Amino acid sequence: QYQGLAGRSTNEVLQLYSAHGQQQKLQRSSVVTQLHGAIKKRLKQDLKSLHSFALELSKDFQRQSKTYLYQVLTAVQGIQLQNEAMQMFQMKAFDLEQSLQEVTERYEKEKQKRRALHNNLVELRGNIRVHCRIRPLLPFDTAAGHLMSQDRQRSFSEKVAYATDDETVLVKCSRPGHASINKTFQFERVYNASESQDTVFADVAPLLTSLLDGYNVCIMAYGQTGSGKTYTMLGPQIEENFAFEDESELGIIPRATQEVFRLISEKPPGSYWVEVSVVEVYNNEIFDLLAKDSCGKVFGVKRDVVTTREGKSDVPLLTHETVENASDFLHLVNKGLQLRVRHPTLVHAHSSRSHLVVTLTITTVVSGDNFGTSWEDEQTSQRLNKEVSCTFPQKERDNKSTSSSRASSPAQLEATEKMKQVKTRLQLVDLAGSECVGMSGVTGAALRETSFINRSLSALADVLGAIAEQRSHVPYRNSKLTHLLQDSVGGDAKLLVMLCISPHQKYLTESMQSLGFGTRARQVQRGQVKKKNFPVPSKAK
Ligand code: ADP
Ligand code: MG
Repeated sequence: QYQGLAGRSTNEVLQLYSAHGQQQKLQRSSVVTQLHGAIKKRLKQDLKSLHSFALELSKDFQRQSKTYLYQVLTAVQGIQLQNEAMQMFQMKAFDLEQSLQEVTERYEKEKQKRRALHNNLVELRGNIRVHCRIRPLLPFDTAAGHLMSQDRQRSFSEKVAYATDDETVLVKCSRPGHASINKTFQFERVYNASESQDTVFADVAPLLTSLLDGYNVCIMAYGQTGSGKTYTMLGPQIEENFAFEDESELGIIPRATQEVFRLISEKPPGSYWVEVSVVEVYNNEIFDLLAKDSCGKVFGVKRDVVTTREGKSDVPLLTHETVENASDFLHLVNKGLQLRVRHPTLVHAHSSRSHLVVTLTITTVVSGDNFGTSWEDEQTSQRLNKEVSCTFPQKERDNKSTSSSRASSPAQLEATEKMKQVKTRLQLVDLAGSECVGMSGVTGAALRETSFINRSLSALADVLGAIAEQRSHVPYRNSKLTHLLQDSVGGDAKLLVMLCISPHQKYLTESMQSLGFGTRARQVQRGQVKKKNFPVPSKAK
């Protein structure tokens, strides 16, 4: 084109250029128009596909939300169903809980009924009641006491005696080189290591009511040294003294005395009084721990035990102190206990080497008119006269003028002529421990003591054996201990043996021996314990 222009004039060229420009303009506008059309078309298409895509998306979204809604609804329904099921389960659990409670209550009632029946049977047969107390593991159970806390875990595995319930003891032990033991023992009541002095006493208390109802009662702690006999009978020992201040730790003896005085306080004033004697049986000799010298100082005096013409055992010249309340009693007993022979053994630093017998004699003044038919049989009954009124405790004598007290006005004096005394006796016995010689590590005089202790305890077992077999001869006199306790053991008293057990494996032999003793004692039938001659209740006033 430019070559073609070479021979043309400027004008022509300009004209050509302008024509060419026009043409190009025209061409450009048609291209723009075309392009515009194409873009419009394309935009329409895109819009259309976008629209259909959005439509699809919204349909999809609807579909999905329907599915999700459905899922949510099913889940909600599921939860509702689960809720209902849960509520049903809860109701069922509540029902079960209630019926379990009912069954437990019924079981407790049945158990109480069974206990009461068993108690009646025990009364009728004159069985010896046996309770068993397993004390906690204590630092001195391990050879080196201080290791206990560090090695507590190991010590627990060394425990062999357990209270599986309140009537069963389980002894379970397997040691290399020894036959394994898995044996249960049944008793009237079994206390585990955590049961308090309160609980133990609660089971003993009913016997004290019987005491004031006219029965003799004897409570005796049996077990090896360190098994908790003195703790159970008296309470914890601090050095040489008993800590009678801490009420919750008091043992059976102080609590029983408090209870006796409480029961007496509910009776007419002056109708009861209490005397105490404290006796120790040491090396087969009897010592009166309340005997006083001329200056009034208490010192142990040797006494003897005799059999009276009526076949009862008696300790002539034994000191009986009248006490008016429990604190008088504790003061007196504490003084007597200072004299009790003790020697530390390897097992236990305050090991008692003697049997201790604390006796409370309760004299009841009753009107002769109201006596049962056979009151004359009662050997200890005497005519109540001035002599008796003199033996009333000071407080009662001072209260003579009160209308309820006896022996003051002539009319009352006349009444006293018909009055009788009935004595009932509460014997509380803390036996010396039956330990193996090897274990306690004693020699010399202490070894002699041990052999006396063991002999007296086997005499006790022999006596029980003879009674159990209803032999005509019961060897009470083989030992001072059995001679002294003859009446209580022989069936004159409701007798409770409190077996004390150390749960540690190293006392296994002793524990088995004690449990065997308790089991045999339980089987002894002594015939129904006789009630002392008390007034016929309807006439008594
Ligand atoms: P025992 O008179 O049988 O030789 P103790 O009554 O003197 O034995 O008891 C030995 C030790 O064990 C004492 O230190 C006592 O306080 C303690 N003990 C005994 N029984 C228990 C118990 N149930 N709870 C706590 N300590 C006890
Ligand atoms: Mg003791």
